[in-house]
Amino acid sequence: MKIKSVKCRMLAATLDTPIQFGIGAFPTFSATLVEVATDDGLVGIGECIVRRAPQATRAIVDHMLGPVLIGRDPHDVEGLWDEMFQQLRGWGHYRGFVFEALSGVDTALWDILGKAAGLPVYKVLGGAGRPRVPCYASSVYFAEVKEMATQAADQARRGHTAIKVKIGRSPQLGGRRMDVASVKAIREAVGPRVDIMLDVNSAYDAATAIAVCRQLEPLDITWIEEPVPPDDLDGYQRVRAGQSIPVAAGESEFGVFGFRELIRRGAIDVVQPDVARVGGFTGARRVGALVHAHNLRYAPHTGFSAGVSHLASLHVAASVPNLMTYEYFFAPNPLRDLFTEPFPEPKEGFIDVPHGPGLGLELDERVLKKFEIT
Ligand SMILES: [Mg+2]
Repeated sequence: MKIKSVKCRMLAATLDTPIQFGIGAFPTFSATLVEVATDDGLVGIGECIVRRAPQATRAIVDHMLGPVLIGRDPHDVEGLWDEMFQQLRGWGHYRGFVFEALSGVDTALWDILGKAAGLPVYKVLGGAGRPRVPCYASSVYFAEVKEMATQAADQARRGHTAIKVKIGRSPQLGGRRMDVASVKAIREAVGPRVDIMLDVNSAYDAATAIAVCRQLEPLDITWIEEPVPPDDLDGYQRVRAGQSIPVAAGESEFGVFGFRELIRRGAIDVVQPDVARVGGFTGARRVGALVHAHNLRYAPHTGFSAGVSHLASLHVAASVPNLMTYEYFFAPNPLRDLFTEPFPEPKEGFIDVPHGPGLGLELDERVLKKFEIT
């Protein structure tokens, strides 16, 4: 089997009302999908995480990564990953857009391997005996305190056993005091048996994060996510040492070398790689070995990405060691449902992993046409 072509498709969709969280307002969802075709008629699909400029990842796939793959056997996926990375690394391109482009390509290659074997990707990756995985509801975004409590209670009523809540307000939106008030109201509304995760999206500094966490420690919080900017590793260490809520991070980190440093410093408890940024399934699996070696917990990130990434993350969750929970996104996301069948719905805190060959769901061309941009 040989790779015949590598192509990108770009998607975008703008919400009527932007979502508000620690980074600011988020109006437009976008994605770059990668389609890798083989000479025997298989097509693998992957997604590069994109928050701005899907044209950037497309250019990297078209001009830097695609040429490495043409004529090669997708079964050599790990070697191809190293080869693609090696030609970028020497020029200093070992993070950022190039890694996101590489992630989409690698995901498409593993989709081909699943389709060729007639097995779901999570089985081809080794399988962990998990046809369904634990999940949490993501996320309750900034609103009035009462409205946030109502939303959280509504998710608990739908059967979710764990709910993530956004904090990290700017002073204009009420600041850390309103963050604390919203989490207290939500704990009151959902009762003691629902897990609550908090996500700051890097909006605090270490001192603020420690002060807020100490106030919230009695509320039995499952984790505090991205309390400080991703490059502030000293800050992460301070937050972890300065309070008792477990610290989570990883959606903004690239590859096994980035995670090695976070883990080596003892900066985090919960490791959250995004398959569309960490280096595809190959990257996600290599980070899994690190998580295993350090007795940490794995919680794959999904968020604002499109459906291929959400689906691929399900296969990551079904195959990595030390899985804690999968991020099931219930907030509005126009690019999540891109398939001819519905995306799996969680029940009582678990979500089924599609068991068809490859990623297990087929893209619906009619839906793609609505969102495709050039
Ligand atoms: Mg997050």
